[in-house]
Amino acid sequence: MLLGAIEAGGTKFVCAIGNEEGLIEKRKQFDTTTPEETMKKVISFFKDKNIEALGVGSFGPIDLNEKSDTFGYITSTPKAGWKNYNILGELKKHFNIPIGFDTDVNGAALGEMNFGAAKGLKSCVYMTVGTGIGAGAVVEGKLLHGMLHPEMGHIILNRHKDDNFEGICPYHKSCFEGMASGPSIEKRWGKKGTELGENHKAWDIEAYYIAEALVNFVLILSPEKIILGGGVMKQKQLFPKIRSYLKDMLNQYVVHKNLQEDIEDYIVYPYLGDNAGICGALALAKNIL
Ligand code: ADP
Ligand code: ZN
Repeated sequence: MLLGAIEAGGTKFVCAIGNEEGLIEKRKQFDTTTPEETMKKVISFFKDKNIEALGVGSFGPIDLNEKSDTFGYITSTPKAGWKNYNILGELKKHFNIPIGFDTDVNGAALGEMNFGAAKGLKSCVYMTVGTGIGAGAVVEGKLLHGMLHPEMGHIILNRHKDDNFEGICPYHKSCFEGMASGPSIEKRWGKKGTELGENHKAWDIEAYYIAEALVNFVLILSPEKIILGGGVMKQKQLFPKIRSYLKDMLNQYVVHKNLQEDIEDYIVYPYLGDNAGICGALALAKNIL
C-alpha cells in the first residue's frame, strides 16, 4: 500500500511516499515560502502517485478540533503568510483520500511508536529541541490532543543557579523554549551550539533545563519511553547529563527500573534519526486508515 507523508515545517516541507511498514520509497523537499508557492509544489509531488492516504505532521499551532470552523488550519503562527492558513482544506481540494493531520511532534511520537524506539509500548513522549521546543505524546495507545494540543515546550521551569539569561520566548521570556531552544543557546553564548565545544558549560545548563522538563513529563504523563530529537540533541554528550539530572531531581520518588538501571534505554535519541518527522507523517497516514 502506498501512503503519502508531509512533514510541514517552518523552514522546509518534506514530502514522501512510503508504506505502512514505515519505509520511504521516494522523497523531495521544498523551502517553505508562501503557502501558494509551497503547496503548489507539494500537490504536484503527490499527483498521480496513487497514494491511499496522506499524513501531515505540521508546525503550529494548528486547529485539531474537527467541530471547529478552522479545523485543519495553521492558526496563530508568526510565520509570514501562514497565519490562519487552511492547509488541510487545500490538500482536500486535490486529494479525495483520508488525510491524517496532527502536530509535527505528535506525528513523530506516533512514528517512533509504530516504527521506532517505542514499538510495542502504549505510551511515549517525543520532544524536539531545535529552533523551537515541542513535544508530542502517545497515551494509552492514542495521540494526546485535549482542548487544542499540548504545548510542552512552553512550560515554566526553575532557573539554573548559574544562569542569568533573560530568555527569548516572545510570549513568556524564560519558559523552557525561551531558555533552551537552539536560538536561545546562540543568544546566551554569542555562538551557535555547533560552535561551542562539547565540554562547554552551555551543555550542563541545557541538560539541566531538559531534565527539569522531563521531570514534569514523567510526573504528569508517566510515559514508557522518552525520545529526544531535533538539532540540539545531536550534541550526544547531553544524554548522560540529562539522565543524571533527571535521577537527581526525581530523587527516587518515582521508583522504576527505567529511572535506574534501564535509564539509557528510557531516554533515547530517535530510532528513526533524521527521519523521525517524515516517518511520523507516514504513521499519521497509516493511523487514519
Ligand atoms: P527545526 O527545529 O527548525 O526543524 P533543527 O531541529 O535542525 O530544525 O533545529 C535547528 C536549531 O538547532 C538551530 O538553532 C541550530 O543552531 C541548532 N542545531 C542544529 N544542529 C545542531 C548541533 N549539531 N548542535 C547544536 N545545535 C544544533
Ligand atoms: Zn514560551
